[in-house]
Amino acid sequence: MNYLSALAFKKIKILFLIPFFVSCMQGESSLYDFAMGTAFSITLYKHGQYKVLDEIFTNIKTIENLMSVNIPSSDVSRINAAAGIEAVHVNEKTFKVIERAIYFAYLSGGAFDPSIGALTSLWGIGNDNRNDSRNDYHRIPLQDDIDKILSLVNWRNIVLDSENNTVFLTQEGMALDLGAITKGYTVDRTVDIIRNAGIKRAKIDIGGEIYMLGEKTDKTPWRVGIQDPKGVHGGIIGFIQTGETSVVTSGIYERFFEKDGIHYHHILNPFNGYPADNELLSVTLTASSAMDADALSTAIFVLGYENAGFLFETQPGIAAIFVFKDLNIKMSGDIDFTLTNKAFNSAMQE
Ligand code: AMP
Ligand code: MG
Repeated sequence: MNYLSALAFKKIKILFLIPFFVSCMQGESSLYDFAMGTAFSITLYKHGQYKVLDEIFTNIKTIENLMSVNIPSSDVSRINAAAGIEAVHVNEKTFKVIERAIYFAYLSGGAFDPSIGALTSLWGIGNDNRNDSRNDYHRIPLQDDIDKILSLVNWRNIVLDSENNTVFLTQEGMALDLGAITKGYTVDRTVDIIRNAGIKRAKIDIGGEIYMLGEKTDKTPWRVGIQDPKGVHGGIIGFIQTGETSVVTSGIYERFFEKDGIHYHHILNPFNGYPADNELLSVTLTASSAMDADALSTAIFVLGYENAGFLFETQPGIAAIFVFKDLNIKMSGDIDFTLTNKAFNSAMQE
């Protein structure tokens, strides 16, 4: 989201807490709302598309109701409640997301792990439900508790049965958390709805996970601002120019708390149980699938710059912008980035 639209979006976010549509004269139809603990905005570059926006809204809510850990009747909550007891039949959307999540867990050697739920609950950072009083219950856990919980984080203990669409967590206390992949999945399904409706141009932003669909009328590239991971929400370090793509970021600034000068953020390292701590502030990926970019950005953030290289070899379509704690920026793959924030330094293209 560029700076101006980010500001406008913030204002709108405060003013409207119920779904609403805006359709302006220049041939746009837009939807702004909240779901999955985050704001989303959809802009279709076509006038009067209320029906499509309504379908998009309903679909986002459906996915949230299936996959949120904070909705007791969701598929994910039911799977977690039955951990160590029995397999749970789930909707095929949920099944597909879990299947893909397991693939990325395997690919990343467990850096991305959808069975991280018990650990994310233990820390309580950025609980994704604004209406949930547990939202503020973040804490630095005791080492003993971390050690116990770590034995419950292992994607290999998720058993899928694709004939019956069932999911079984083999250990009691184990829990799924699909927070690192669901927003990307939702973006991809939103793109499907827009394409099926025959709309050629659109911008989708679900909690900062962006998809630019089609091309601008004047054929110039889309511009997408890259958030300053050290700045306030809305500040950018620069922008990319691109054709159709998803743009997805994982960073330390999204959900966090600070205690005694230490910054504890929401992306956890499944190997030691603490917020991933390496040289990175954020990583932004561009890819054709937002779901893949979502899982991979989380995995790459956990692995760190040096260790994540192998993932790029397996996924030739993705490109990345790495923002480092020393304020250097590095790029990988085919990406057209322009630095505008003088506090940062852009190294050569790798
Ligand atoms: P993202 O912002 O996409 O990087 O996802 C972060 C969210 O995914 C967190 O809020 C947790 O719910 C969950 N999560 C945290 N660490 C991991 C991890 N290592 N693997 C999978 N999911 C994670
Ligand atoms: Mg992610």
